[in-house]
Amino acid sequence: MPALIKNLTTEQVHESLAHLGVKPRLARQIQAAVIKRGEWPPDGPEVSSRIMAKVRQEAAIPHLTLLDKVVSPADGFAKYLFRGEGDDVFEAVRIPLLHRPEDQKYVVCVSSQAGCAMGCAFCLTGQMGFRRNLAAWEMVDQACKIQADSAHPVRGIVFMGMGEPLLNYEAVLCAARILSEPCGMAISGKAITISTAGIVPGIRRFTAERRPYKLVISLTSADPVVRQELMPVEKTYPMNELMQAVREYHEFTRQRVTLAWTMIAGVNTREQDAKQLAELIQGLPIILDLIDVNDPSGRFKPPSREELDAFRDALRVHLGMPVIRRYSGGQDIYAACGMLAVRKPEAS
Ligand code: SF4
Repeated sequence: MPALIKNLTTEQVHESLAHLGVKPRLARQIQAAVIKRGEWPPDGPEVSSRIMAKVRQEAAIPHLTLLDKVVSPADGFAKYLFRGEGDDVFEAVRIPLLHRPEDQKYVVCVSSQAGCAMGCAFCLTGQMGFRRNLAAWEMVDQACKIQADSAHPVRGIVFMGMGEPLLNYEAVLCAARILSEPCGMAISGKAITISTAGIVPGIRRFTAERRPYKLVISLTSADPVVRQELMPVEKTYPMNELMQAVREYHEFTRQRVTLAWTMIAGVNTREQDAKQLAELIQGLPIILDLIDVNDPSGRFKPPSREELDAFRDALRVHLGMPVIRRYSGGQDIYAACGMLAVRKPEAS
């Protein structure tokens, strides 16, 4: 089995090729050429053709196959459909940062699994079921392929596509490391976000390992009964256990913890929901990240303007913590949060 360079950190590239005479400097050149251009470094004064011939025999550059790409005419979000090692397909989204037109850049929303086992009621990926974990290189290459297809730089990565990242912990953290390394995509660790539905052992491990990435925990309701209906993970890792792990994470990082809240009208956007959240966190410094639910079936609806304003007022009164509203774009191309399921909108 050849060493797949996009699966390896800089150190691992060196370790796996050192027996061929590859020194750390050449390992860095190999990784930079493979990640940034998808090819081996050209022969030159510092790149021995004799050693590179051996490297080509023992290592390989894996590539995802791009099957489809669609760009939203409404907001410029782009959705990519890929195939990797097997037959399973998965999607990634290129998110334009629209607030600074003079300094255009992108964030890539990466899938960590094909499908997802978590079964969140408001998410199309959850309805697909679980197919398989993606390898680290399959995540790295989503970002590489999208960068190669883009006129502006990718400056951020969010592991918020298909799948539960903390159930594919090793590969996700390996991919994050490769994407952040100077010879990888050189994306700042602070600009890499890993999202979880609430996998407590994964949060504890992430905390213990002091990973430099941002963690976002999807809470969505502070009422255990409501949360269990929306997010079955609540049965396995109940809210009190989850919040204990979140507190431990805060104690290590001393940073505000971002809690994501998928807003569903009449379900989790009432005054009592704001009160319950305040009681749950008991002063823990958080940022609440509000996202409109995206449900093409119409079963779940986002709050109206009036409901949203009332909910924000209630949060101001009861919670008193920063609240942001995340724009979840690409709805028209099924690229928004909760819509990744290898589907296209029905023709109207
Ligand atoms: Fe899985 Fe995330 Fe969808 Fe829940 S919201 S089913 S964790 S992809």
